[in-house]
Amino acid sequence: MKIMVSACLLGENCKYNGGNNYSERVHAFLEGHEVISVCPEVLGGLPVPRVPSEIVDGVVTSRDGRNVDKEFRLGAGLALERAEREGVELVILQSRSPSCGAKQIYDGTFSGKKIPGQGVFARLLRKNGFTVLDAEEL
Ligand code: SF4
Repeated sequence: MKIMVSACLLGENCKYNGGNNYSERVHAFLEGHEVISVCPEVLGGLPVPRVPSEIVDGVVTSRDGRNVDKEFRLGAGLALERAEREGVELVILQSRSPSCGAKQIYDGTFSGKKIPGQGVFARLLRKNGFTVLDAEEL
């Protein structure tokens, strides 16, 4: 199966703090499948490291108050195009990210509080008919 995966779950240092979210569980699940790695935030032109962001009243905003919605949506759109082009059958995403979060996100107050919801990439993928899993659901 062709599976698209959040790049940070594969060990790529594309996380806001310059690190990654390598997951042994994801790694094991992917064995024998064709893997396509993607980081929508980097695709949208955001640097590594970068100031963390949350979705505040529907707008992706960085902790220092900048509106980064355009970059997030651009990256999500480019990543979606790639998923379509590659004929991806399943997408596995990092939990709670304002891009990749597939069932839960932070509440927009930068206080660590989580709420049910999705990041902009997860939402776009589902809207376009892709099957999306949160890495913690594996
Ligand atoms: S945008 Fe997605 S792939 Fe990129 S660092 Fe955040 S969670 Fe990982």
